[in-house]
Amino acid sequence: MLRIDGLSAWYGEAQALREVSMHVAEGEIVTLVGRNGAGKTTLLRCLMGLHGAHGRTAGTVSLFDDDITKLAGHARARRGLGYVPDDRGIFATLSVEENLTLPPKMGPDPWSLERVYETFPMLRERRRFPGTKLSGGEQQMLALARVLRTGARLLLCDEPTEGLSPLIVQRIGEILREVRAAGVTVLLIEQNVHFAASVADRHYLLAEGRIVESLDSAQVREREHELLEYLGI
Ligand code: ATP
Repeated sequence: MLRIDGLSAWYGEAQALREVSMHVAEGEIVTLVGRNGAGKTTLLRCLMGLHGAHGRTAGTVSLFDDDITKLAGHARARRGLGYVPDDRGIFATLSVEENLTLPPKMGPDPWSLERVYETFPMLRERRRFPGTKLSGGEQQMLALARVLRTGARLLLCDEPTEGLSPLIVQRIGEILREVRAAGVTVLLIEQNVHFAASVADRHYLLAEGRIVESLDSAQVREREHELLEYLGI
């Protein structure tokens, strides 16, 4: 579904990504793991076509076998890419339902409000609440739901579990699996390797802008302590 070949990215003269090559198959959940500053956010932003304002890139990105390297962000969204940034991007003064009705339907499979509320019943309960009144976990669910409303087929999620309690992290995991069962593919940044192994199929370890290892979940489970130490968690 997604193929990245030799992707490099720079901020001015500083190189943040070095010849990254990886793929995500349709229906997979794949994580990007790496220390702070490894280049994970830069990689997701490059995939969404958002790096251009910061510096140059090299390499190619293909989605469904089409080369999308030169396409702008909105054109990538029309082809099914959706980005959930780490700050979640909720409009704080708008209600949950306004946040959900605002995004334009761009991608191939826009979710109806009803479908969103079936998957995220908590958002139906809170639909008149302003964004400011939501907990971190509720904001994360709203951010995911909002991207599904645009019609995304491949979600790029920047650390959806960051700062959330274990119970909410578990709920986010259930939701990601439900979303996958509904036909959506997920690439997420994740520092919680225990959670990563429980929710995802495969994992890429990124260090200093390079993919240094590709692991399945059994390998991550076996090496959990070593990875946590490496990540400094
Ligand atoms: P974190 O988990 O801390 O967000 P990350 O793995 O997502 O880390 P990036 O945010 O992609 O890493 O950063 C990769 C490198 O690019 C780092 O060295 C960072 O300092 C640098 N960088 C990131 N954003 C900018 C920017 N706007 N201008 C200059 N350098 C940047």
